Amino acid sequence: MVKFKYNSKKCDLPYEPEELRPTKCLKCLEVCPHNLLMFVPLKEKDRDGAPKKFKIHMIFKSFAKKFCPGCLKCVEICPTQAIRIKF
Ligand code: SF4
Ligand code: SF4
Repeated sequence: MVKFKYNSKKCDLPYEPEELRPTKCLKCLEVCPHNLLMFVPLKEKDRDGAPKKFKIHMIFKSFAKKFCPGCLKCVEICPTQAIRIKF
């Protein structure tokens, strides 16, 4: 069974007000052949109520078990070693 492990301290995804989303990196999302990864906001908000930062998330844990073949493309492309896949 594949487990997706992610370290948000190694992955800096600041909110970008002009785009209303994080725009930096996101290479793991682009490379995943099954579109299993997404970004979600962290709880901390700024004065306007916008999230300050985002994190990468596997869409559903059950999806990982069913659809992630453990190709390791997300691990290989991540420039900060923020992602690990455990078998
Ligand atoms: S191991 Fe492959 S399929 Fe699984 S989340 Fe990473 S890129 Fe996607
Ligand atoms: S590739 Fe790595 S650093 Fe870039 S968004 Fe994904 S987890 Fe973060």
